[in-house]
Amino acid sequence: MGYNILNSNEFADRLLKWYPENCRDLPWRETNDPYIIWLSEIILQQTRVAQGLPYFNTFLRQFPDVHRLAHAPISQIMRCWQGLGYYSRARNLHTCAQQIVSDWNGKFPDSYKDLLSLKGVGPYTAAAIASFAFGEQVAVVDGNVYRVLARYFGLKLDVSTHQGKKAFEALANQLIPASNPGMYNQAIMEFGALQCVPRSPDCPSCPLIGTCHAYATDEVAQLPVKSKKVKVKKRYFTYFHIRCKGYTVIRERGEGDIWQGLVDFPLDESNTPGQMDWEIGEQFTKINEFLPKSVEVFDTSYKHVLSHQMIFATFVQINLSDTDSEYLKEWADRRGYRLANTNELEALGKPILIAKYLIDCE
Ligand code: SF4
Repeated sequence: MGYNILNSNEFADRLLKWYPENCRDLPWRETNDPYIIWLSEIILQQTRVAQGLPYFNTFLRQFPDVHRLAHAPISQIMRCWQGLGYYSRARNLHTCAQQIVSDWNGKFPDSYKDLLSLKGVGPYTAAAIASFAFGEQVAVVDGNVYRVLARYFGLKLDVSTHQGKKAFEALANQLIPASNPGMYNQAIMEFGALQCVPRSPDCPSCPLIGTCHAYATDEVAQLPVKSKKVKVKKRYFTYFHIRCKGYTVIRERGEGDIWQGLVDFPLDESNTPGQMDWEIGEQFTKINEFLPKSVEVFDTSYKHVLSHQMIFATFVQINLSDTDSEYLKEWADRRGYRLANTNELEALGKPILIAKYLIDCE
């Protein structure tokens, strides 16, 4: 590395001194309850604190302990998760709670190794729970930690590679002190979130400035080494919002695509804008005995950006006469759709662009 960095004790001491003077007051701090720590860590993966905080409060209110979460219907959990994205986290949350109740007698396992056996708990979350709740000396390595270590120590490996990941983990585990490892982990993550931030960190006020590799070599903006940009796939959805006698046709999203476990509407998809296949729409406009009262095209395009995909959705609202309700039910059954009344639709978890459209179209 070729730079006069602090030794690991001094490095940890500086962060542990910085932490109490600068940390945010968050509800999952100051607790060693593994349930609360786990919940907060799962919610905060890929999520900013400001966005995750209201979800955390809702979950804790509705599911105050692991038993309540394990016994709740998945639809309730998906609805509480609505808008937070990465929905596999919500499904794993439920499975993990059930696993803890059935295999661990309702108590979280108390070691990093055993925590890793839980559904949806990877090395980062296992290290967070093991160190915060049980004082195990195991380092958390999230995006904030990568950034701090890459800059301070001048580590130029790409973190998205296996070799890079291993090197950062090894360094982080060398640095973590035996006494108070949980607070040290919180300190380095908070330091990355507040002080050594991705863009234009306030280096002049940093307690590590005198010994920081990136600062000394003017490489702050270049570190950490970023992986190549992921290719974003564009998808164009046409949703059919079909209503009859107070009911709406919905479908549950299955495996193998985004939003598994949520509900949306019958859908045509295309890879090209303006090339919609109107197969479903035609069924409503061409079949005489099944004539819609009204068809309205909402030409607002709703855009939803995911890490690897960009979704553009338009909506066609089809209102049918009350007399069509029996036919519609059969039609929906044949295609694996079903009918939901207004209250049920409200209570079910939906992709956020469906929720936005439903507000706009009322
Ligand atoms: S001096 Fe700047 S780059 Fe170095 S650790 Fe501090 S904030 Fe990060």
